[in-house]
Amino acid sequence: MDEISSTTARPAVSRLQVEAVTVGYASGRQSDVVAAHDISLGVATGEFAAIIGPSGCGKSTLLNAIAGLIEPSAGQVLIDGEPGITRLGHVAYMQQRDLLLPWRTVLENARMALEISGTDRQRANEAASALAERFGLSNVLDRYPWQLSGGMRQRAALLRSSLQPSGLLLLDEPFGALDALTRRDLQQWLATVLDRSDRAVLLVTHDVEEALLLADRVYVMSPGPGTIAATVEITLPRPRGEEIVTSPEFVALKASLLHELSAATHAHAALAGGSR
Ligand code: ADP
Ligand code: MG
Repeated sequence: MDEISSTTARPAVSRLQVEAVTVGYASGRQSDVVAAHDISLGVATGEFAAIIGPSGCGKSTLLNAIAGLIEPSAGQVLIDGEPGITRLGHVAYMQQRDLLLPWRTVLENARMALEISGTDRQRANEAASALAERFGLSNVLDRYPWQLSGGMRQRAALLRSSLQPSGLLLLDEPFGALDALTRRDLQQWLATVLDRSDRAVLLVTHDVEEALLLADRVYVMSPGPGTIAATVEITLPRPRGEEIVTSPEFVALKASLLHELSAATHAHAALAGGSR
C-alpha cells in the first residue's frame, strides 16, 4: 500500500527491459559481425509489442539474446527488473523455425516445457489438454506434426511455447510461412487467445498489417546493423476485427509505418552506397 501511495514511487518495472543491447556473431576473422546495435525497448505485463524490419536486420538475433540463447556483447536484458536471472529456458520462445519434434505427438510436444520443469506426467497432460481446447487443438493431440496442416502446426508450436511457465512470450514470425488467408485467420485467433493475458508478448514480423492488428506498440528496425529507427504507439481500439483494416485510422497508420520502414531501409542503403 505504501509503495503505491508514495509520491517517490519508482515507475512500474517492465516485464522485459532491453537496455542498449548490442549482439552479434564471432566471424573467426578480424572483426565480429554486429547483427543488432544499441537496442533499447520495453514490454510491460499485459502489453503486446511488435518489431518490424526487413529480412536480415537482426530481429531473430535480438530475440535469441532476449531468450538467453546468445549473450549480448554490450548492454543488458532485464526480466522483471532483474538483470542477473537465467533467461535460457525461462522465457517462452517460439522460434522462427518451428522446432516441433517429429517423433512426438502434439500432446507430447506441447508438454515438453512442463516435463523439463519437473511437472509430473498427469498434471502436464492436463494442463496441455486444457490449453489445447482453447487453441482448437483438442482433436489432434495424438497426431504427429507431419500429419498437420501448416496452420495447425503453427498453433501446435504456439501451444508448446505458451505452456512454458513464463510471464514473457517471444514470437518470431509465427505466421511467416503460411498463405495469406490462413495467416489472417491465425492473427485473429492469436489476438483472442492472448486477450486479457497477464503476459508480456513480443512479436517479430515483417508484415505491417499483422503488427497493426496485434500490437500496442511497434518498433521499426533498420538494417546494417539493426537499430530501432522508430517507435509507434498503436492506439486502435480492440478487438481489431477483419473490418478494421479498411478504417481510415488503420490505413493512415499503415501508411506511416510503411513510410518509417522504407525510410529506415533506404537510409541504410544510401549509407552503404556512400561508404564504398
Ligand atoms: P532477421 O531475423 O531480421 O532476418 P537475423 O537476426 O536472422 O535477421 O540475422 C541478422 C544478421 O546476422 C544477418 O546478416 C545474418 O546473416 C547474420 N547471422 C544470423 N545468424 C548468424 C550466425 N549464426 N552466424 C553468423 N551470422 C549470423
Ligand atoms: Mg528472423
